[in-house]
Amino acid sequence: MAELPELEYLRKVFERELSGKRIIEAEVLLPDQVHVLVEGDFADRLTGLKVTKVRRRGPFILLRTNAKDRLVVKPAEEGHFKFPGLGTRRPRTLVFVVHMEGGPRLWFLDPAKTAEAYLAAKDKLDDVPGLMEQGADPLGKNFSPERFHRIARHNPDLTIRQMLMDETQISHIGHVYADEILHRASIHPQAKVSAVSEDQLDRLYDAILDTLEAACQTIEDRAQPIENTVRDFLRVWNRKGEACKRCGQPIKSLKIEGVEAFLCSKCQVKPKKSK
Ligand SMILES: [Zn+2]
Repeated sequence: MAELPELEYLRKVFERELSGKRIIEAEVLLPDQVHVLVEGDFADRLTGLKVTKVRRRGPFILLRTNAKDRLVVKPAEEGHFKFPGLGTRRPRTLVFVVHMEGGPRLWFLDPAKTAEAYLAAKDKLDDVPGLMEQGADPLGKNFSPERFHRIARHNPDLTIRQMLMDETQISHIGHVYADEILHRASIHPQAKVSAVSEDQLDRLYDAILDTLEAACQTIEDRAQPIENTVRDFLRVWNRKGEACKRCGQPIKSLKIEGVEAFLCSKCQVKPKKSK
């Protein structure tokens, strides 16, 4: 899953590389994953339009154009963009291509075939499944401590990890950053929300902001090509058996809802009983 700091980096690169430029060519290679929700076809609609702004909404990247068309992409599990060098062979995972006047060429690829792209009208964005049902952006102004406490009060029966990952409440924290945030806040992923104290919630709120902001900065500083996913700086995710950076205990993993979650069982003690 493309996580928030990774998409935020993509947004910044796209703002720099695509904004203000005209699309001179567009092509769909895997039409099952590209949904044209406007009249006409993808290439005809986009060719000649200018990209005016690039935004992120939860797990979606949106390219605004100077017409009513919006190109909306949800990379999902393995979808990723690439600026291919000249002569790069087109792989079978290539979903669509957009060429900008004077460069660059932009590819969207998806080995997992779970990503979706939409060409939608700006006044019909609710036709894009999930787009308008996103909760508060943790890096946005609306994500206040009060709102976070309210979300917790309304979801007492969820586990804290489920609550963090519910896109309709907080958009968006995937399983990678859920692990990082919970480790930073020293809360067990399977703790019931009702068993988490007000103090712990405050700590968790700070951990969300601190973890995501620091990750955005690190990924931006590393300035890798956009097809690279930078996660080697993370503290618990995918570090099973390595020493916890805080206490030295080996990091453990747990299968939670089919996904491997990583934690330190010394720093993140599971509450014995829910209130
Ligand atoms: Zn630890």
